[in-house]
This record gives sequence, C-alpha cells and structure tokens, in this order.
Amino acid sequence: MKIFVLNCGSSSIKYQLFNIEQKELLTKGIVEKIGLKGSFLKNKRNDGDSVKLKIEIPNHQEGIKHILDIITDKSHGSLKNLNEINAIGHRVVHGGEKFNSSVLITDEVIQKMEECIELAPLHNPPNLKGIYSMKKLLPDIPQIGVFDTAFHQTMPAKSFMYAIPYSLYEKHSIRRYGFHGTSHRYVSQRACETLNLDYSKQKIISCHLGNGASIAAIKNGKSFDTSMGLTPIEGLMMGTRTGDLDLGVLFYIMNKENLNSKEAYALVNKQSGVLGVSGVSNDMREVEDAARNGNERAKLALEMYFYRVKKYIGAYAAAMGGVDLLIFTGGIGENGPETREDICKDFEFLGLEFDKEKNAGKRGEEIVISKANSKVKVTVTPTDEELVIAQDTYEIVTKL
Ligand code: ADP
Repeated sequence: MKIFVLNCGSSSIKYQLFNIEQKELLTKGIVEKIGLKGSFLKNKRNDGDSVKLKIEIPNHQEGIKHILDIITDKSHGSLKNLNEINAIGHRVVHGGEKFNSSVLITDEVIQKMEECIELAPLHNPPNLKGIYSMKKLLPDIPQIGVFDTAFHQTMPAKSFMYAIPYSLYEKHSIRRYGFHGTSHRYVSQRACETLNLDYSKQKIISCHLGNGASIAAIKNGKSFDTSMGLTPIEGLMMGTRTGDLDLGVLFYIMNKENLNSKEAYALVNKQSGVLGVSGVSNDMREVEDAARNGNERAKLALEMYFYRVKKYIGAYAAAMGGVDLLIFTGGIGENGPETREDICKDFEFLGLEFDKEKNAGKRGEEIVISKANSKVKVTVTPTDEELVIAQDTYEIVTKL
C-alpha cells in the first residue's frame, strides 16, 4: 500500500511516499519559499535520483500540484499515476483537547481542526491548507490527521494545568498540551522494541533535542508530563526560544525596552535561546565550533543548554519515581555526542552508567550508550515522524 505523507508549514511543504508494508521510503522532498521569491522543489528518490526545480510557487495548492507532478514524472517519479496512492497522512500540529489519537479526516474533523487554530495560529492554518488542497486534487483518497499533541493527552491534570485562575482553562482551554508527541511516541516504542523491554512497564525520559526541543516523561506507555506547554516556547532552552522564563522578566523587558506584545513574542520565540545567549547562531554545530575556539558566550550557552536538560531529567525521574530508559533524539540528540555526554554526566546516583566509548563520535546511529550493567539504559534513537504518520494512516485506512 502506498501512503503519501504531507507536512505543510507556513512557507514549506515536506513530503514522503512510502510503500508501507515494507516500511520502504520511495521518495521524499520539499517545496520551499512558498509565496516568496526563489521558490523551488527538491525531490530525492530512494535510488539516488535527485532533482531541484526552480519554479514559481504562489501558494500551497500550487506547491502540492508540483509535488504530485514530480512523483508521477516519467524521469524522476516513483508512481505511474496518482491512483496508486492509497491514502494521505497529514501532520497536524495542534489537536487541542479534541484529538487524542490519529483520525480519518471528515468534514466534522475539519471543523474541529478549524476550532484548534486559535491554539496554534502559526502552525495549524498551513496544515489545513494541505488538507483542503488534497481534498480538491485527490477527492477520493482517504486522508488521515496525525497530531503532535495527541500523545500527550494522557497527561494527568496535575501535569497539564497551569496555576492560573481555573476559569481561564474552562473559558479558553489554556493548559499544557505539549508537542513532538509523534516523535516521543515513536522513539520510546522503538527503543523498547530494540532493547526487548515491555513498553507498558517502563519509566522513560525522552529528549527530543532539535532546533525546537522538548522532553517527555512516559510512564507505563503513556505520556505523563512534557516540557512544552500551550505553545512550544516553554521548557528546555532551544535554538531561538527561551524555554522556561520568569514571567516577571518578560514584563520587565517589555517595560524597559518599550516592546509591544508582538515584539515580546518575537523576542522569546526567535531571538533568544542558544542564539540569544551565544550571539553566534541557533545551530549547535556553529556554537560548538565557536566554543572550541574560545568564545565565552558560546561556552555559556552550551553549559546552560546541557544544565537545563539535566534539570528536567532529574525532575521527571522524581515525578515518575525513577527512570529505566533515557532516550536522545532530534538533530542534536542524534548527532551530538558531546551534548549527550555532558547531559549524562554525574547521573550515577540514578543508576546511570554512561559508556563514553560507545557514545564518542557517533552521529545518526541507533545505539545504546549506557554500560551493559547500567540500571538506567540510555539510547540514541533516530526519530522518524513521517514513518509514524504513514503507519497510523495505514492502520486507520485498513480498518475502513
Ligand atoms: P528541527 O526539526 O527542530 O528544525 P532538527 O531536529 O533538524 O531541528 O535539529 C537541528 C539541530 O541539530 C541544529 O542545532 C543542528 O546544529 C543540530 N545538528 C544537526 N546535525 C548535527 C551534527 N552533525 N552535530 C551536531 N549538531 C547537529
């Protein structure tokens, strides 16, 4: 069965096409700079064929049309025609309290997704554009929505409630939702599978460290707590986001710097984090290089980054009454051996015996980086959100 996965952002569309029974990725690509100058489409087939087309792409629907053209193209395509696609899986960022698992997209579901827009005004609208475009272009093919927030819907109220007037939760649904749920779900299940552990009986801490970063406590197979909140700003220090911040600081800055709420939002979302502290970059590789060359602020940014992940691991171990498995994933988690070593330092008191040799120099590999006798297992588990979306889509459409 061929499953087409779409991940529509505000100015980009990522896509992958799977032969799902074999977990085989047939082709993948990206459309970038939608509605901007210099828009292009890049397609990479699994046999190595690669093509980049510089074309004007004024909107998402046009972008998707070009994608459908290239995947059925005689020279660069993977399909003879579009009828070969059995189902489409969409990444949807925010499902609010309305969705706790992946669903078949119906008119009623779209209505509910529309209602979630106010919770993610930047992310959900492009996701919906993808859904509307596909409905128009391929109306007979079932579409499935897979939500970043769904996995975290199992959190208990003590984890998801903010200490604000309860009426604001009732009135505006203000609470912690968490993100990266598809990734946390995938890597936690995958790591248990590879280590032969019973998923339903583990206390797991999953660190998704990318440009955006979040950490999740997963107890007995269910998300118990996670660091991102109503929005992706809360929690760990990130590439350009503050993570946890004394709210008083924000009011103080707004006063001192005369910022309105939009400017303040941009400050905590786009100008802070590793970039803000280091003044070098939001890209860890560049910050690590600068630190190696003696840049003190880059060193400080890295120290803060590691320390904050460490604090969350401690907090979640306490929250769950222990930890059996610690997982690293995301661009930095998968490719940053120094980051992993630093974060895992001095965790012997938890029963974590880190294996420096197994960890050193390893990038993008699925490996165990704890010693054989370590009570807490530590893994690097590369994430694959698109595969999860394809698998969820497959499971739902085969039951239709
Ligand atoms: P997102 O999906 O949130 O945009 P990614 O998961 O792609 O982010 O992660 C991006 C981060 O991963 C960047 O900070 C980048 O520096 C880091 N990264 C990618 N490859 C490497 C590497 N080889 N070594 C260290 N960091 C890396």
